[in-house]
Amino acid sequence: MSKETSFTEGLTKRHLIELDACVRCSECLKWCPVQEVTNNRKISPPEKIKMYREFIKKTEGLKARLFGPEEISKKMLEEFTKAVFECTTCGACGEYCEVGIFSQRLWPFLRKKMVDMGLGPIGVQAKMPEVIRNTGNPYNKPAEDRFKPWFPENAKVSEKAEIGYYAGCSGAYEAQPMVKGDVLVLGAIGEPFTMLSPEEEVCCGFPLFITGQHDMLEDLTKRLVSAYKAKGVKMLLCSCPCCVNIMARDWPLFYGDKLPFKIRHITQFVADAIKDKRLSIKKEMKERIIYHDPCYLSRGVGVIEEPRIVLGSIPGIELIEFDRHGLYSQCCGAGGAARKVFHENAIAMGKLTIDEAVEKKADRLILSCPACYSKVNEAMQGYEKQIRITDIMELVSELLG
Ligand code: SF4
Ligand code: SF4
Repeated sequence: MSKETSFTEGLTKRHLIELDACVRCSECLKWCPVQEVTNNRKISPPEKIKMYREFIKKTEGLKARLFGPEEISKKMLEEFTKAVFECTTCGACGEYCEVGIFSQRLWPFLRKKMVDMGLGPIGVQAKMPEVIRNTGNPYNKPAEDRFKPWFPENAKVSEKAEIGYYAGCSGAYEAQPMVKGDVLVLGAIGEPFTMLSPEEEVCCGFPLFITGQHDMLEDLTKRLVSAYKAKGVKMLLCSCPCCVNIMARDWPLFYGDKLPFKIRHITQFVADAIKDKRLSIKKEMKERIIYHDPCYLSRGVGVIEEPRIVLGSIPGIELIEFDRHGLYSQCCGAGGAARKVFHENAIAMGKLTIDEAVEKKADRLILSCPACYSKVNEAMQGYEKQIRITDIMELVSELLG
């Protein structure tokens, strides 16, 4: 069977064991943000897994091998495709899973299977490859506007340096205070850093990876890795958790070798600078702040402590936590490119984040992800509950003056 007809081809042994392992205990349902806002069991982890097992059984199970495969109805395939694409891939179900299913990785590969079979992606997601090919970003914005509208006037970027900074499409086009903050904080630390030109700094590939459209990933990865390598980069910094995720986890695979540089989230670099006294925030801020862990930063790459080191170094600050934080944080609704198709779900999830921050009487909600930044801000438009939203590096740069 080919990847277009087989439900197992292209999945790893781990994926297949995970699909087999679900005991349908329903523990994950309590923590799924999509369940919380839709209450639709059909799109829950055990239901998706049950459907997919059925597909395998009907086409490659013992009976299928002895007597030939059974046909799977189009309706069932479409239902499964919708379910797997409606998920935000936040991975909370995996963190709580009784049998340890690494769902933040499993769902994207099941999405890829649906794409290989011609059933996914859905809606506007299908336009992404063409848009990225034409403009270098998934937002269909001109490359010349990538840095120009927000890049701080006096920031100094070296032609070559051991530190590279990748702004990322979401930050550059959708969360500009965040990337501006990154560059200002890097400037304050004072170590030389380099960047690619706006034409060279193309999409990291995450939106394509997460929607199961893998065809361009090797090309994008090789272009970016070679360009940073040519600039002598030894450590690549980025503030977008999704970019950091694909760079650290998947770029070596698409590049075909170990990367010639380390990947670090900006909060890791800044926390180190604070610990080594290369950066210190002197200005006092008497505020009660709450920090939201982005799913792809905490569950994705395990960066939990560093943003708290950065925030904890601000004199006068009172840092409070969401009930669910760190590895168990609740998705703000922006993940998995689902926001592009299931907009209402995303807004409802964003409101849940706002509700808790307001209920806990925080003065400010601190974020560290461009997708969270743009979606939670959108969820607050016209909402009765309001809270000031600031990106972590935006805040640090303001305090550094
Ligand atoms: S990854 Fe998140 S949104 Fe998707 S099923 Fe699991 S908990 Fe729900
Ligand atoms: S917690 Fe894990 S084993 Fe239990 S239903 Fe969810 S996916 Fe299946």
